[in-house]
Amino acid sequence: MKIAFCASEVVPFAKTGGLADVAGALPLALEAAGCEVIVIMPGYEVVRRSSSVVRRLKEGISYAVIGKNIKVYFIENDKYFGRDGLYGGKSGDYPDNLERFSYYCRRALELLKEINFRADIIHVNDWQAALIPVYLKSIYSQDTFYKNTRTVLTIHNLGYQGLFPREEFSKTGLDPGLFNIDGLEFYGKINILKGGLEFCDVITTVSPTYALEIQTAELGFGLEGVLRERGSRVFGILNGLDYSVWDPAVDNLIAKDYSIHSLEDKYINKEDLQKSCGLTPDKETMLAGIVTRLAEQKGLDILTPVIGNICKMGLQLVILGTGDLKYHRLLQKAAKKYPGLISLNLKFDNRLAHRIYAGADLFLMPSQYEPCGLGQMISLRFGTIPLVFKTGGLADTVNIDNGFVFDKYSRQDLLAAGKQAAAAFRDKAGWRARMERAMRCDFSWEGAAKAYLKVYEKALSS
Ligand code: ADP
Repeated sequence: MKIAFCASEVVPFAKTGGLADVAGALPLALEAAGCEVIVIMPGYEVVRRSSSVVRRLKEGISYAVIGKNIKVYFIENDKYFGRDGLYGGKSGDYPDNLERFSYYCRRALELLKEINFRADIIHVNDWQAALIPVYLKSIYSQDTFYKNTRTVLTIHNLGYQGLFPREEFSKTGLDPGLFNIDGLEFYGKINILKGGLEFCDVITTVSPTYALEIQTAELGFGLEGVLRERGSRVFGILNGLDYSVWDPAVDNLIAKDYSIHSLEDKYINKEDLQKSCGLTPDKETMLAGIVTRLAEQKGLDILTPVIGNICKMGLQLVILGTGDLKYHRLLQKAAKKYPGLISLNLKFDNRLAHRIYAGADLFLMPSQYEPCGLGQMISLRFGTIPLVFKTGGLADTVNIDNGFVFDKYSRQDLLAAGKQAAAAFRDKAGWRARMERAMRCDFSWEGAAKAYLKVYEKALSS
C-alpha cells in the first residue's frame, strides 16, 4: 500500500507536541509493516537549522530520509515558513496561518503529482493538513491522478480547529460556495478541521475513549454533531510509544540506565535529579514529576491551587513546562513559597524531560481532557507511576494496577488521589510491584500500525 503522510510537525525535524512524535514514528511502523511511505511537512526555518541531512530536490522542495527509505519532503517558502516558530511567536498565532497552511496543502498535492507518487491513502493530521481532503474532493475532483486515492484524517486534539474570519475565505482558493453549513462554515467563521472531517473518507483519533468523547457535547468542541453524523467512520487507535527513544535501559540522557531487572539503579537517577534541581537528595521522600505544556487542558486549573497541599504532604515536586504566562506566574509564586520542595523549570528541555521520567517516583498528569497523551506512557515505561484523571487516552492506558486514577475532575479528587499515592509509596514491596507492572505495559507502534492498516482498507473500500 502506498501512503503519503502529511503532518505539520515531525520528529526529529520540528516539534511542539505529541503530533510530532506520532508523525515521526507511525510512518516507520507502516514501512516495517510493508507499506511504501512518504511524509510531507512544511520546511520551517528549524528544519534548515537542524542537524539532519537535508537534500534539495528542486526549487522550493527539499527532503531527508528516515527509516529504511522514507523520504520526508519539506515544502519551502520563505514568505510562509522562513521564521522562528511553527504556528506563532511571542505575541500569539501568526496572523497569516490560513494562507501558510493552505499553501502547504495545495503544494503537497502538486508535489505528489510531480514525483508521481500515486498514493492509495493520503493520511492527513490535524487542521494544518485538513484542507487536503477538501481540495481533493473539489479542485482535484476530476483529476485522474487522484481517482483511486482515499483520505484518512487523524484528530490529535479537537481543541485546535483552525478558525479564521469568514473574510479570509478566498485565501483557501476554494469555491466560495463551500462556505456553508455542510462545508467549512462554523458559527460564521471558517473552520478548517470541520472541512476536513466532512470531506475525508475515514476519521481517526488517537485513543478509543477519545473517539467516543469527541462525539459528546462535553468534549466535542462544537463539532460533536459533525462527528456523530460520521460516527460509523470514526475510529480510535491508541498511539504507540517509540521505544527506541523512550527506554530507560538505553538512554544516554539519564544518569544511569536501568530496567525492570535493575530497579535499584532508578534511584541513582532520582538522586541525580534531586541534586541538580536543588532538592534534598533522599530516596524515602516521594518525588513527583510534571512534564507538560502549561495549558488549561493539562489540568493546571485544579493542580495549581493544591500545590501547597501537595508540598505539605511531604512530597517534592519537579516541574518542567512552558506555555500560558498565567501558569508561569502561578507556579513561580508557588515555587517561591516552597523553596527546596519545588523545582520549577519554565522551558522546553528534552534532556531534563528524560531525567524527570527516570528520576521521579510519581508522574502527575491530571489533564482535563487528553486525546491520547504520551507523558503517561513514557512514565509507565520508566517505572514512574502515573497519576491521572480518567479521560481519553489516560483512561485507556492507566488503571489501578499500574497507576492512580481519579474520575471526578476536581481539586479535591486530585488531592485525594495524591494522598492515596503517598500512602501507597510507604508500602515498599507494593510500590515495587506496581513499578514492575507499569514497566511491563506495552504500547508499541507495531500494534497501532496494524490497526491503521485496517482503517486504510476501510477507506479504500469506500
Ligand atoms: P501534547 O501533545 O498535548 O503536548 P503529549 O503528552 O501527547 O501532550 O506529548 C507531549 C510530549 O512533549 C511528550 O513527549 C513530553 O515529554 C514532551 N514535552 C512537553 N513539554 C515539554 C517540555 N517543557 N520540555 C521537554 N519535553 C516536553
